Amino acid sequence: MMSTENRKHRLCNSKCRGDLVIDGVASIKWGFGWKERLKCTRCLYVGKHYKLFNEVNTKGKGRRSAEINIGFQIGVASTSIGNTSSRQNN
Ligand SMILES: [Zn+2]
Repeated sequence: MMSTENRKHRLCNSKCRGDLVIDGVASIKWGFGWKERLKCTRCLYVGKHYKLFNEVNTKGKGRRSAEINIGFQIGVASTSIGNTSSRQNN
């Protein structure tokens, strides 16, 4: 999700140095999971919605910690893209 959207964002607006972040306003409840999309912090780029967490939920009860882990990894991915962008600016 992150790498695909990052590539599409660069194709859309190659000069944009903005970061892709989860567009919390556009989150959609989908079954037991959520659909999220990414948006750029600087330009008007908005990605398509991706299903998140539903694979984790199909494994049954007692897997809540796994959902938290996935959320954490998405956060780390956002941070690393932010770091890359700031390095390119220097
Ligand atoms: Zn942008």
